[in-house]
Amino acid sequence: MNCLECNTELDRSERTYSMETLGISLCNAHIDRIEKIIKTKHTPLEAVQLYYALKKAGLHPTLEWWDGRRSIDIAISRVKLNIEIESNYETISHEQAIKDLEEAMLSFKNGFTTIRIPDVLVKYHLKDTVKNLTGIVEGLKINLKAI
Ligand SMILES: [Zn+2]
Repeated sequence: MNCLECNTELDRSERTYSMETLGISLCNAHIDRIEKIIKTKHTPLEAVQLYYALKKAGLHPTLEWWDGRRSIDIAISRVKLNIEIESNYETISHEQAIKDLEEAMLSFKNGFTTIRIPDVLVKYHLKDTVKNLTGIVEGLKINLKAI
């Protein structure tokens, strides 16, 4: 098993620690980096897992991308796609929902598409989530070319 970031082969303790804490394979140096991001930006673990899955799929994502106003969980900037991981989406309040919609509207006005992915999709349907996001990126690419 190798580090998803630098491709270094992991030793047994690295492998165990990284799979148990993050559910992905990273060397100690890259675990440190990710843990720092999670701590400072409150990044959901599912965002990290989805980020690496999208990276593996060749979509060139950015984790915690600063859009000038706030930090986006994952951005695929060449097609102006923002991906936000939604926790507790079943218990979302009306206030939060309208705030989310406003955020989506503002980013849309700036040419960005925002997609909210419930964390359970990353947890239980990662493969299908990546497949659909790949399709969305391809669709956006065609639309961007058309402009
Ligand atoms: Zn590494």
